Amino acid sequence: MVAKTPNAQHHQCYWLDDVGPAPEFSGTLPKSVDVVIVGSGYTGLNAAIETARGGRSTLVLDAEDPGYGCSTRNGGQISTSIKPTVEKLAAKFGQQKARAIRGEGASALAWIGDFIRAEGLDCDFRNVGRFHAAHTPDSYETLARDAEKLRADENIESFAVPRSEQKKELGTDTYHGGVVYPQHCSLHPAKYHRGLLRLASKAGAQILGHCTVTAIERTAKGFRVTTAKGHVDARDVVVATNGYTTGLTPWLQRRVIPIGSYIIATEELPETLVDELFPTDRIASDTFKVLYYYRASPDRKRILFGGRVSAAETDPKISGPRLRESMCRIFPQLADRQITHSWAGTVAYTFDELAHTGCHDGVHYAMGYCGSGVSMASYLGMRTGQKVLGQAQGATAFDGLPFPTRPLYTGKPWFLPAVVAWYRWMDTRQYRRAAHG
Ligand SMILES: Cc1cc2nc3c(=O)[nH]c(=O)nc-3n(C[C@H](O)[C@H](O)[C@H](O)COP(=O)(O)OP(=O)(O)OC[C@H]3O[C@@H](n4cnc5c(N)ncnc54)[C@H](O)[C@@H]3O)c2cc1C
Repeated sequence: MVAKTPNAQHHQCYWLDDVGPAPEFSGTLPKSVDVVIVGSGYTGLNAAIETARGGRSTLVLDAEDPGYGCSTRNGGQISTSIKPTVEKLAAKFGQQKARAIRGEGASALAWIGDFIRAEGLDCDFRNVGRFHAAHTPDSYETLARDAEKLRADENIESFAVPRSEQKKELGTDTYHGGVVYPQHCSLHPAKYHRGLLRLASKAGAQILGHCTVTAIERTAKGFRVTTAKGHVDARDVVVATNGYTTGLTPWLQRRVIPIGSYIIATEELPETLVDELFPTDRIASDTFKVLYYYRASPDRKRILFGGRVSAAETDPKISGPRLRESMCRIFPQLADRQITHSWAGTVAYTFDELAHTGCHDGVHYAMGYCGSGVSMASYLGMRTGQKVLGQAQGATAFDGLPFPTRPLYTGKPWFLPAVVAWYRWMDTRQYRRAAHG
């Protein structure tokens, strides 16, 4: 049961309770700037910090309050962020490129920690590690084998935890063991976003909320960007709209698949219960195809539990109780505990499960983080800013990759409910078979 059900998606977000009201970002639209950035999440703000510090007049525009998108509402889990394996990537791009792409995941993870420390951002950043749990004995075997390979081939630290030892990591009997990735981290997403807003403003970037960009047109000297508040001329434009990409950029809209991700927070729990469920404070996720991800809140008073609980997109009022049911299946100890928050956001998947960055028709972009964007969006935003400045270090292994779409796909994923329903059916079948031997 949802004890409190606030009504708008973003107003239900637990993280926003913790940071107080958003700073005011109103003002007048300048006539011209060096750089316009569309979208004020991790991608846009990290790009803005670079360009503003590099001496370019920079304007960040968001259709809603700055940070309205995923960057204030996510699970705050940080991993290496690249889903395809080296083998899969090598089959398409060759060994060398495959390794370079995988390497960007490790670079993004290392970079965000260094950046947060160097800038002194107060956002509960912690190197807690991840427990990735196996939903069947077979998936445990695969995970354990892959962990050894990752260590040997890519120097990614990890170790397997058999079912008999599982409770040292997570207070549940649901899974069949798992693997720990000690390098993975956690943070408070909204505090991190507030820190970025402060850094961007301090560097001289102007940030305007409630200023939807409606057109980007080429001019002799760059671009004319039309907004709800008038137009502004810019030499460079960066599109950083990820899961909220619209017909403003049809070429990009045809290449990203918007998918809702749903999450809840419990009421405050006794310290002993949180200690039992999360004895190591690690972030957690599992091998279900439609996966769950969860963690303790930074103050260790609540559990935050996310995933996808319906085939079609739904309202957080509906997803909240369903997520709670899933959470209680994993942690029966929470059966008589209420949830106080239920919210959602829209992430961007891509047809090749890779993030993409580059320049199309002269417009820079970075997006398609496939649900793992805390470090990758930040990192590629930063690299995009460097590219705008013409700096060689802005280059990434993603540059020049084809950004695939599908015939007749225009940005509305009509196929998604069927795909999610099929994956969920498979997950349930495998899990039940494993549970009944
Ligand atoms: C519930 C949930 C949990 C998640 N958990 C994790 C996690 O644990 N770990 C992880 O790594 N990732 C997670 N993610 C994904 C991660 O949050 C995103 O990948 C990341 O925040 C993307 O940042 P961004 O800046 O590219 O986009 P966003 O933060 O989504 O920002 C895009 C912005 O563009 C604006 N915009 C769109 N169109 C226009 C326009 N025409 N004019 C002006 N502005 C416009 C939008 O209003 C929006 O604010 C999660 C996401 C969700 C929703």
